[in-house]
Amino acid sequence: MDEMPVISGCDEKDCFYNNNDGCHAPAINVGGSHPKCDTFSRSATHIARQPVGRVGACHVTDCKYNSEQMCTARAIVVGRHGDHPDCVTFAPVE
Ligand code: SF4
Repeated sequence: MDEMPVISGCDEKDCFYNNNDGCHAPAINVGGSHPKCDTFSRSATHIARQPVGRVGACHVTDCKYNSEQMCTARAIVVGRHGDHPDCVTFAPVE
């Protein structure tokens, strides 16, 4: 894999890294037993960085896109799940 997958959209408007429904974190981590965005940082202010965010590491090893704790999807989408953001591109290994 040459490049880390982009985050094509994120619904978590209360996150510091979110600007206009886009993630601009250099690299997020997605959590272990559940595909939660562990980089979420609740904030009323937002990052000025422009480049689109990417997935740095993913610990959800039962996702079909996971290879050696990295995401092999071309892009992911992050959405709200209760009180936290989740990777909604997650798909269980069949
Ligand atoms: S993907 Fe995670 S770090 Fe990026 S804006 Fe959404 S909640 Fe924040």
